Amino acid sequence: MTIRPYNFSAGPAAMPEEVLQQAAAEMLDWHGSGMGVMEMSHRGKEFMSIASQAESDLRELLAVPANFRILFMQGGGLAENAIVPLNLSRGAAVDVVVTGSWSHKSASEARRYAQVNVAASNEADRHTTLPAPAGWRLTPGASYVHICSNETIHGIEFHELPDLKALGSDAPLVIDFSSHVASRPVDWSRVGLAFGGAQKNLGPAGVTLVVVREDLIGHALPVCPSAFDYRLVADNASMYNTPPTYGIYVAGLTFQWLKRQMEGTLTGIAAMEARNVAKAKLLYDFIDGSGFYVNKVARDCRSRMNVPFFLRDESRNEAFLAGAKERGLLQLKGHKSVGGMRASLYNAMPMAGVQALVDYMRDFESTQS
Ligand SMILES: *Cc1c(COP(=O)(O)O)cnc(C)c1O
Repeated sequence: MTIRPYNFSAGPAAMPEEVLQQAAAEMLDWHGSGMGVMEMSHRGKEFMSIASQAESDLRELLAVPANFRILFMQGGGLAENAIVPLNLSRGAAVDVVVTGSWSHKSASEARRYAQVNVAASNEADRHTTLPAPAGWRLTPGASYVHICSNETIHGIEFHELPDLKALGSDAPLVIDFSSHVASRPVDWSRVGLAFGGAQKNLGPAGVTLVVVREDLIGHALPVCPSAFDYRLVADNASMYNTPPTYGIYVAGLTFQWLKRQMEGTLTGIAAMEARNVAKAKLLYDFIDGSGFYVNKVARDCRSRMNVPFFLRDESRNEAFLAGAKERGLLQLKGHKSVGGMRASLYNAMPMAGVQALVDYMRDFESTQS
């Protein structure tokens, strides 16, 4: 088996090699059915079994309570920024906490369907801090409060979800967990709805995961397209219209891969969390100890998944990226709105990949002085 390069893409992102190999092996004939998964009717017993296995594996992995529904939808994280207000706003105001590009986009999308109040923003700090929940200006009677629990572009993560009840609010919390789903456990007692595109940490682009509390389903605005009405999607087990069948299948293979992961005595998501903490620490410690590289995010809210960093001398960026590619370290260029570099360390990135990156960064620095 040849060693593949380490891929630090923010998304679509690296997948576990075992998952890719299994998908390849089953491409022409899934389990003796004579069909590849792409060729199956979504209403046939073969695909129905694939989808229900994927759902139950995910429910187990993320410890999703029985009063939450798991939906596999389409449209990506961006579409959910519209689908959520279409389903949850009920004509009332919506609170959004702006902490970076993604929550900023969520606020603009929601404005088409609801009155939006920006309850807090870190814009004045150029998206490098997290506004403390105690200072949020929440709207009494708001239909929900939206946060992006991991800002993929700015590299900011809520390490603890806010407890809205403790802040005196009855509104459900909506989290966009696109870029850190399955990297750590979710405290569902604080969440009303979570959504995320699959292409960061679960599988291929095209599947959008929605986990939503039962009582929030069934309140769609009349203008909501039927394909995006949570009631219809839930009542039809995500098959109201043709779901992204192949993406659900590959995500299902990833869920089984996640269930097999072990780290000491930990398994599944707990094992991933331990590994992700260690991976992020290795990279941040190296950057902080260096005079050559810098990360500008406040230490208490640095993302474990997406690490934006800069060379202090930006004239060396191209040389850095070219040298990285030569060493098999791919897709390290930062997002165009932030610049510099970004290393995304999703579940499929092993510790050895982060070590290879740190070794390269050290070597590159030593050749530059
Ligand atoms: C990638 C991403 C999205 C957008 O996903 P699309 O599938 O491109 O719509 C939304 N939110 C976050 C936090 C993301 O990382």
